[in-house]
Amino acid sequence: MKELLLTAPGKLAWQHAEEPVLTKIGALVRPLAVSTCDFDHLLYSGHSGLPLPLAIGHECVAEVLAIGSDVTSISVGDRVSVPLQVNCGICRQCRAGRSSSCEAVPWLSCFGLGLASGNWGGAMSDIVAVPYADAMLTNLPAELSTASATCLSCNMPDAYRCVAPQLARNPGAPVLIVAGAFDNIALYSAGIATALGASQVDVYGIHPSARDKVEAMGARVLLGQNEIAGNHYPIAVDASMDPEKLALAIHACEPAAELTLSTMYKAKSTPLPLMQMFEKCLSIATGQPDVRSSIKSVVQLLIAEQDKFALLIDEVQPWETASLAFATGQGKRVVMRD
Ligand SMILES: [Zn+2]
Ligand SMILES: [Zn+2]
Repeated sequence: MKELLLTAPGKLAWQHAEEPVLTKIGALVRPLAVSTCDFDHLLYSGHSGLPLPLAIGHECVAEVLAIGSDVTSISVGDRVSVPLQVNCGICRQCRAGRSSSCEAVPWLSCFGLGLASGNWGGAMSDIVAVPYADAMLTNLPAELSTASATCLSCNMPDAYRCVAPQLARNPGAPVLIVAGAFDNIALYSAGIATALGASQVDVYGIHPSARDKVEAMGARVLLGQNEIAGNHYPIAVDASMDPEKLALAIHACEPAAELTLSTMYKAKSTPLPLMQMFEKCLSIATGQPDVRSSIKSVVQLLIAEQDKFALLIDEVQPWETASLAFATGQGKRVVMRD
């Protein structure tokens, strides 16, 4: 089979790989559509810190080719969402809804992120082995288009955890989203926040080319730091990877606010204004999203808002042009088989 490998920063190549083996509790799936994510842009540019080469792609809708003898929840031919993370579904962390922290596999066991935690392969492949089929795969309802549904593997649940539980606890609250190197998580967070009734959704730091997408999500673009009100937002999202913008988000939070950091800070130590955070009784959450654990709620939201979130897709391209899609560096592209 063929898979798309990121061999070095800025270099992608189709290469032959051995076909994966089916296990009793696993499934083999054929990716139908794969979309680009902010993390792919980070990988491609060489700034992820993960070892190369790696098989790229982790936002994926696939067709089930084969299932193991113990698999009960899916059938051959099903169209499924494949989550970013590998998770078993039965360990203590999985049962508690923390599928990103599954104890059965090493941390960062994900498709498309390379060999750091095992050779799970990437979605830009002819066949992907899903090791825990019942725990991981989700049958997709017919009303969701294949191109729209790729974001269910990563971006949509990642953005969902940044604003949805917070808005459930604080209905109608205004939300601040701080963007940075890449725009997708900020845009999905904005779209989810407006869909879930935030009274005001402000986005700072978005690239000029994505400003119309902010407005399409029903949110407002803040152009300057001076437009960010201090002590104003009960809910804030930092998707910037920029310590100075993180400090801005903290400044903008009102007392007892909830701030979610969707991105990694790779430095061993990142300065934080702890006294200011203490004064504000600020709650900060960070880490990977629990993709599989939140999938039911996220699917329902995507069905309800499918047309709106489709506006975040720049282009749907043929499978063979994936190298171009992953090399673009910004935005969201979906590559699809015929
Ligand atoms: Zn992603
Ligand atoms: Zn587990």
